[in-house]
Amino acid sequence: LYVDQPLGPAQPVPLTRDQAHYLFGVMRLGQGDKVALFNGQDGEWQAEVAEAGKRGGVLVCAEQSRPLQLPPDLWLIFAPIKKARTDFIVEKATEMGAARILPAQTEFTNSERIRQDRLQAHAVEAAEQCGGTFVPEVADLTKLDRLLADWPEDRRLMFCDEAEVGASKVLGDAGPGPWAILIGPEGGFSEAERRRITALPQTSVVSLGPRILRADTAAVAAMTVWQQALGD
Ligand code: SAM
Repeated sequence: LYVDQPLGPAQPVPLTRDQAHYLFGVMRLGQGDKVALFNGQDGEWQAEVAEAGKRGGVLVCAEQSRPLQLPPDLWLIFAPIKKARTDFIVEKATEMGAARILPAQTEFTNSERIRQDRLQAHAVEAAEQCGGTFVPEVADLTKLDRLLADWPEDRRLMFCDEAEVGASKVLGDAGPGPWAILIGPEGGFSEAERRRITALPQTSVVSLGPRILRADTAAVAAMTVWQQALGD
């Protein structure tokens, strides 16, 4: 269970109403039962139910069962598409071990607004589901130009677009270190954007195969290839 609280030896963890409902109403746990907790920072802790109520409760941490496992330093930058598909991208990127997820507004981005809090909650759920101890930060929607203007010098970019060379070939020749994957919207990138992106010093334009993948498929495919080549 994810909790937005510090975890440590004998640390009491008060529960929200929703968490109490889930643990005591849905999972039917009661006093003395054990729950595995994580908060994205302190690893996984085994805790015991000290108080169980309908509207709240308290767990008390016993010992750490797993240390924090940080994913490799990989960002996923994508242009938000329809709501359900954007949710899918955030969920899958979390499962695939993205360290940061950055929705970007491009010239042809279909959606002008996102609910960052909802997307962050999806990342939490996905981390819970896959037994992770880390939750990637989902940033607010940022203009692609802004991201490119502030681009960190040492971060390499795997720019998924029409290209001669396949992603696995590029990654096979490259080393680890900070990376980002960039996926476009349904309408692709404009020529001006392509020029700005490829002007970054460490960009590789890569193909994910001969077929045009939907943006959500492309995000999963790109992260899979990256994790195979450079992940742990
Ligand atoms: N007509 C659009 C275009 O001109 O690029 C297609 C966009 S595609 C539906 C959405 C995004 O997925 C693209 O911007 C690209 O980042 C990625 N993508 C899809 N298929 C790809 C492929 N075969 N190779 C590399 N990237 C791909």
